[in-house]
Amino acid sequence: FRHRILEMGFVKGRHVTVIKNAPLQDPIEYKILDSHISLRRSEASQIEVIDICDYEEEQHTFFGTINDDDPASFIHTKQKTINVALVGNPNCGKTSFFNFATGLHEKVGNYGGVTVAAKIGVFNRKGYTINLVDLPGTYSITEYSPEELYVRQHLIEEMPDLVLNVVDASNLERNLFLTTQLIDMNFKTVVALNMFDEFEKSGNKLDYKYLGQMLGIPFIPTVAYKGIGIEDVIDTIIDVYEDQEEITKHIHINYGNTIENAISLIKPKLLKNKAICDKYHTRYLSIKLLENEKTTLDLLRDGTKNFKEIYKIVKRQQKIITDEYKENVETVIANLKYGFIRGALKETLVLSDNSHHPDKATKIDNILTNKWLGFPILIIFLYLMFQATFSLGAYPQEWIETGVELLGNWLSKVLPAGVFNDFVVEGLVAGAGGVIVFLPNILILFFFISLMEDTGYMARATFILDKLMHKIGLHGRSFIPLLTGFGCSVPAIMACRTLENKKDRILTMLIIPFMSCSAKLPVYLLLVSAFFTKHQGLILLSIYMIGIVIAILVALVLKNTVFKKTSEHFVMELPPYRKATLRNTATHMWLKSVQYLKKIGSVVLVASTLIWMLSYFPQQNDEKINNLTAERGSIQSPKSYIEQIGQFIEPTLRPLGFDWKMSVCVLTGFAAKETAVSTMGILYQSDDKDQTLVEQIRAEKYTYGEKAGQNVFTPLVAYSFILFMLLYCPCVAAVVTCMKEYNKFWALVLTLYTTAIAWIVSFLVYQIGSLF
Ligand code: GDP
Ligand code: MG
Repeated sequence: FRHRILEMGFVKGRHVTVIKNAPLQDPIEYKILDSHISLRRSEASQIEVIDICDYEEEQHTFFGTINDDDPASFIHTKQKTINVALVGNPNCGKTSFFNFATGLHEKVGNYGGVTVAAKIGVFNRKGYTINLVDLPGTYSITEYSPEELYVRQHLIEEMPDLVLNVVDASNLERNLFLTTQLIDMNFKTVVALNMFDEFEKSGNKLDYKYLGQMLGIPFIPTVAYKGIGIEDVIDTIIDVYEDQEEITKHIHINYGNTIENAISLIKPKLLKNKAICDKYHTRYLSIKLLENEKTTLDLLRDGTKNFKEIYKIVKRQQKIITDEYKENVETVIANLKYGFIRGALKETLVLSDNSHHPDKATKIDNILTNKWLGFPILIIFLYLMFQATFSLGAYPQEWIETGVELLGNWLSKVLPAGVFNDFVVEGLVAGAGGVIVFLPNILILFFFISLMEDTGYMARATFILDKLMHKIGLHGRSFIPLLTGFGCSVPAIMACRTLENKKDRILTMLIIPFMSCSAKLPVYLLLVSAFFTKHQGLILLSIYMIGIVIAILVALVLKNTVFKKTSEHFVMELPPYRKATLRNTATHMWLKSVQYLKKIGSVVLVASTLIWMLSYFPQQNDEKINNLTAERGSIQSPKSYIEQIGQFIEPTLRPLGFDWKMSVCVLTGFAAKETAVSTMGILYQSDDKDQTLVEQIRAEKYTYGEKAGQNVFTPLVAYSFILFMLLYCPCVAAVVTCMKEYNKFWALVLTLYTTAIAWIVSFLVYQIGSLF
C-alpha cells in the first residue's frame, strides 16, 4: 500500500485536495498531482497530512542530472529489426497508439487494467521492421503488482532495443515518475507526449524540447486516438536506433551526495559479476538494493559470488540514508525522484491560472456520483441499456429472421429432396439462423458497454460500488473483470490478473460465470419474447440482477469460509471524463460482430450438424411403416439418437420443468451458450416451415409421460430454464481459460459448483412457482 501510494504521488510536499465522498460515504475521491484517486477511509487515515500553514518548503531535492560516460551496458548489433516496448501509466493511451501504429484492433478503454498481457504488432517503416509490444499499464517498474512484475520481466528478459514511453501530458508529474525509472534502467527511450489535445485545452504551456534535452530523451507530442504525431514518433525511434538523434544522451538523475555515494560504493562490487552486468545496469541494481527490493536481493543472492560483501555495504548505506532523511530508503528515493521531476518541470511547465474553475466535466461528475442520485442513475442507465437491447434490436432482428426464413424456403425448393436437403434446411439454416438473428441485440449491448468504458463512467461505477463490493469481500478492482464478464467470461477470467492478491483473483474468477455473458443473451431474448409480452426490459434486467445477487451470496459464503483474509487496499485512479469516439465504439462493435459470426461459423455450425444428425438418425427408410405409424399413432416410431440421449439425462432435469429437448440444449450450451438456441431451432421444428422459432416453442406440447398434451413451455418453465442457462457451468472456452490461468482443480471446481447452484436455483423457482 505504501508503495502504491508513493508511486501515485502521495509524497512529501504535495497538495492533497479532498474532492468528495462516494454515495455510501466510502471511498473518498482525492486529487493529488493532476489525477483523481479513490481511497478508502481506512487507507486514507494511514497517510500523514499536515496543514499547509505548517509546511516548510523542502529544499535540496533537485540536484539535476549527471552525464554518464560509461559505455552503454548492453550493445545490440544493429539489425533491420527494431524491438520496441510500449511502457506507460495505465490509461495514458498506449493501446490507442499501438492500434494506430500497427493497424491492429486491440481493446481500448478509459480505465486502467484493460491490457493484461503483451500484444505484439509488426509493421515496416523506412526499411526497418518494427516489433511493437503493447504492455500493461504501470505506475512504476517494481515488484508489487503482477502487471508491474510483468513489465519488468519483459524489459529485462526481452531486452527491447528501445522503450517507447507514452506519457499523459495532462498529468506530467506522475507520469514522469515512470520515466525516471526507465532512466535508471538505462534504456534508450523515446517519449510520446500523449493527450496533447487535452493538455493544450488546459491552457498550460510546456517547453518539451528543453525538458527532453534535460532528460536526454526526445519528447514528441501525440494525440494517439486520432493518430496525430504517430509517424513522428516512429521516425524518431528509427533516428535514435541509428544514433542519429541529437537529444538522446546517456544521463542519470542525481540523487544527492548521500545516495550517489552509496551507489558508487555498491556499483564496483556488482561489476565483478559479468553475467549480471550483461543483463542489468549496475546503477539500477544498486538503487534497487538500497530500496531493499526482494526480487533484486534474490537475484543477486543466487547470481553473485560476493553477495555477502555487497549486502554488508547495502545495509550500512541504508542506515546512513535513513539516519539522514529520517525515512526508509524507498520513500527517500521516491521523494527525490518526485523532487527531481518537480525541479525539471519548474523550468519547463507554465501553468495557466484558469485550471481551478469547475468545468463541465466536474458538474457532470457531481451529478453522476451524487449521494442521492448516484445509484438511481446507475440503475436507470442499466435499465435503459437492456430495454434498448430489446426494443431497438427487434427491428433488424425481424429483417434477419425474414431473410433466414426466405433462404430456408428457397434452399428447400432448389435442392433436390432428400437427406441433403433436410440437412441444409433443418440443420444448418435452422441452427445457425436461430443464432444469427441476435447479432443486432448483442451489438446494441456492446454499444452501451463501450460507451460506459470510453466516457469514464465505468470507473465511477466502481467508485460508487466499492463500499458494497468491499462488504462482500471483493475488491473495487474486481469490478472490472466482473463487468468484462457481461461481455464474455474468457477475457474476464484473464482480467483477474490485475488483482494483486491471489485469493481475490480466485474468488473473483469463481463468480464471473454469474455475470451473464453476451452469448447467453440469445437464449433470454428468445424465451422472454416468446413467453413474456409485457415489461420485457425489466424481466431481462431481473435475470442479470439475479446473476449478480447469486454472485454476491457466493462471494459472501466463500469469503467467510475458504477465502478468509485481511482485505486488500483499494487505490484506484478515476480517469477524466472523455467523449466516446465513434472510431473506438465502431471498432469495438465491429470486433464483436466478427467474433460472433466466427463463433456461428465454427462452434455453432459443428454443433448444429451434430445435433441434426443425431436427431435425424436412425431413419426409417420404409415409407409404408412410416405411414402406418402415422396412421395408427399408437406405435412409436423409433427414437432418434438425440432423443435417447435427451431422455437419458431428462430425469435429472425434470424437477426443474425441462423436457428432453431442453435437456439436450443444456448439453450443447456447454460448447457455446448460443448453441442452446440453435439446438432449439433444430429440435423444435414443426412441419409448418413458415412458423418462426418463437411460434414453434409456444405451440410445443408434451407427447409422452404424464404431462402428455400439455404445453412444454409456460412462462415459469421458460424462466426456470433461463435461470439454469444463466447460472450453470460456463462454456468450454471459459473452462479452458480457467485451466490455463489457474489449474485443473479450479477449472473442475468452477464447472461443478456453478452447475450445482444452477440446479438448486431452477429447482426452487420451478417448484415454488408451481405451487401458485
Ligand atoms: P492504455 O490503457 O494506455 O492502453 O490507454 P488506451 O489506449 O486504452 O486509452 C485510454 C483512453 O484515452 C481511451 O478512452 C482513449 O480513447 C483515450 N485517448 C487515447 N489517446 C488520447 C489522446 O491523445 N487524447 C485524448 N483526448 N484521449 C485519448
Ligand atoms: Mg491498454
